[in-house]
Amino acid sequence: MVCPGEGVGVKLHRGLLDELIVGPGEPAGLDGRDTGSTMTRWKGSDESTYKHVAEEDLASFVAELSNAQRLLWADDTHALLVVLQAMDAAGKDGTIRHVMSGVNPQGCTVEAFGQPSGEELGHDFLWRASSRLPGRGMIGIFNRSYYEEVLVARVHPELLGRGKPLAVDVPSSYVWRDRYEDINDFERHLQRNGTRIVKIFLHVSKEEQKRRFLERLDDPGKNWKFSNADITERRRWDDYATAYEEAITATSTAWAPWYVVPADHKYALRALVGGIIVDAIDAMDLTPPVLSPSEHDALERARSELLAE
Ligand code: ATP
Ligand code: MG
Repeated sequence: MVCPGEGVGVKLHRGLLDELIVGPGEPAGLDGRDTGSTMTRWKGSDESTYKHVAEEDLASFVAELSNAQRLLWADDTHALLVVLQAMDAAGKDGTIRHVMSGVNPQGCTVEAFGQPSGEELGHDFLWRASSRLPGRGMIGIFNRSYYEEVLVARVHPELLGRGKPLAVDVPSSYVWRDRYEDINDFERHLQRNGTRIVKIFLHVSKEEQKRRFLERLDDPGKNWKFSNADITERRRWDDYATAYEEAITATSTAWAPWYVVPADHKYALRALVGGIIVDAIDAMDLTPPVLSPSEHDALERARSELLAE
């Protein structure tokens, strides 16, 4: 699954990345994408050894990310925003824990987006996300994001008006089209200002979600992970699938592409997400800062002063 990279030690095969990405203007085609894929053929290994191989790949990406994050920090011109979206129990939390395990906590922020607060509801739909974006030199992970505003809000349109009439009186079908447009413009603005955006949809099957829910119900140590909303939202599976299909299709752009990652096998999805993030930083083409002659002179003066003490 990995090959030598240019700026980095290892990276995912370009062909594999191209398979995961949704090209601008192309349909997401979620129905036709295999959620159980382990991308085995890219490694030329069979399924029995693949888990081990994927774990080794993940370890390489974790090490790579640690270096890449240091470079991002030292360069201080760009930020990386990773948007993670998925149905419940698709593995967002575990992916963040594993993929980011080698990154300096000072260089990384993780923001979870649950139901909005009263203050957040009092603003436009992108407001709460804009105040939690990563600054230059940082990696920011959005665990759910402003995309909820075209996903959960679409499945439950009663959320839109928050019980009140909408500020602008438009037919609801236009609301989604307008929001996709606003999101694309917002992301374009961020990209122009030095934030690279990578959006990842963890694509889990309904069957695998059922298996993971049952595991959470059967294992007392995992009971806390289950919430009643999980079962009520599962009943709307098809509506969420439609909302994801349309949102990903409308918002996969050259400047902020969507990757659809098969999520039925956690070892595969974690390795793939690691590889996608490494590739995103590699594509920034960052180089360690080079000191100017006067900065060199300043270092020499500091050295002389310390040695003279
Ligand atoms: P897990 O996979 O562990 O359950 P989670 O991301 O689902 O994690 P929860 O705290 O269970 O986290 O759920 C957050 C909930 O908040 C989700 O159901 C999501 O759809 C909902 N949510 C997020 N943004 C909005 C929004 N703008 N309006 C309404 N609901 C939202
Ligand atoms: Mg949940």
